[in-house]
Amino acid sequence: MNTSQAAPGSQASLREANRLRVLDALRDQGAMTQVEIAGFTGLSPATVSNLVKDLDSAGAVELEPSIRNGRRAVLVSLATGNVLLAAIAFGDRDVRVAIGTGPRDIVGRQRMPLPADHAADEGMERASRLLLDLVEKAGKTMVDVRAVGIGIPAPVDRISGQVGSESILPGWRGVAVAEEMAGRIQAPVFVDNTANLAALGELRCGVLQGVQHAVYIKISHGVGAGLILDGEIFRGAAGTAGEIGHMTIDENGPVCRCGNRGCLETYVGSRSLLDVLSVSHGPLSLRDVIHRAIDGDPGCRRVLADAGRHLGVAVAGVVNLVNPEVVVLGGQLSQVGSIITAPLRASLERCAIPSATASLEVVLGELDTDADVVGALVSAAALLPANEGVLVGSASIS
Ligand SMILES: [Zn+2]
Repeated sequence: MNTSQAAPGSQASLREANRLRVLDALRDQGAMTQVEIAGFTGLSPATVSNLVKDLDSAGAVELEPSIRNGRRAVLVSLATGNVLLAAIAFGDRDVRVAIGTGPRDIVGRQRMPLPADHAADEGMERASRLLLDLVEKAGKTMVDVRAVGIGIPAPVDRISGQVGSESILPGWRGVAVAEEMAGRIQAPVFVDNTANLAALGELRCGVLQGVQHAVYIKISHGVGAGLILDGEIFRGAAGTAGEIGHMTIDENGPVCRCGNRGCLETYVGSRSLLDVLSVSHGPLSLRDVIHRAIDGDPGCRRVLADAGRHLGVAVAGVVNLVNPEVVVLGGQLSQVGSIITAPLRASLERCAIPSATASLEVVLGELDTDADVVGALVSAAALLPANEGVLVGSASIS
């Protein structure tokens, strides 16, 4: 951990806190002049000037002459060297874009909502514009973006390169995302399912470092899984392994958007959780449910506990098949912690064979909802030529 060692309240700790304020401001706002940094952080111009001098000699920022309001000025931006990686994580409702010099060294990030059932073209156009905006804010150009990792919340067929589902992400059916995006961005692109990328993020940079066999469950609006076998992401014959959301829990259950009945997602997807609560709680967002559950609302806690129980039934099937060391829970709903992991574990113990659960750990992801973005940056780094390799976690990606 690279946290400050300075004693709280000391001059050194104040300086460290101010340094972080400047770095955070540059991460959020992009390149700024010293006057702008002072205005944004509330620090005095003299303090900013000293901090920027220190950051520059430490190689943490880059200074570039520019013109602001018709006058000469020096723009300060986070140091990126000459290799910039990008991550684009499409969700059911939004797209998140990040740029960084490595998977854990994000220098800029932005999120934009996407309309439900948007067309792929619209999603890709918005993501490309968001990326361009971030790159410009960092004082760079698109030429500096050397590789891009992209996550799609649907199976991606590795043979055809197309989003491989008829009904999971309707506006994207049959679209060859890597090809399209490589054309728009003019850089090599790697596309994978977001659950796989999140699993990769935790494997290289998070809680799964050094683990050989694991199941990563991403639970937010939908539910997906990333399988790690022998220390690698397991994608299956066509790359669509891990579609846990459409595993049958009850053959006579509700009809799912995929056309089958009683899929896991019809029990733990946000639509069903919010529907169940709408009678007693009125319209809520997933975020509301999470906050209320953490604050002790019995109805929200009950619905999430039931989701954990159903999830456990499906995960038990996977555990019986692949015998993992660890089950990791990530995605937005994992923020409720034991409210969901305790019933999940109980259900696992009831439904999976004892020899598979005896030493099985159920843990929360370390990278929270960032795991897919980090994984996308890991896979972007893997696209770089060897002499531009970026060190990822404890080992370089080959
Ligand atoms: Zn389904």
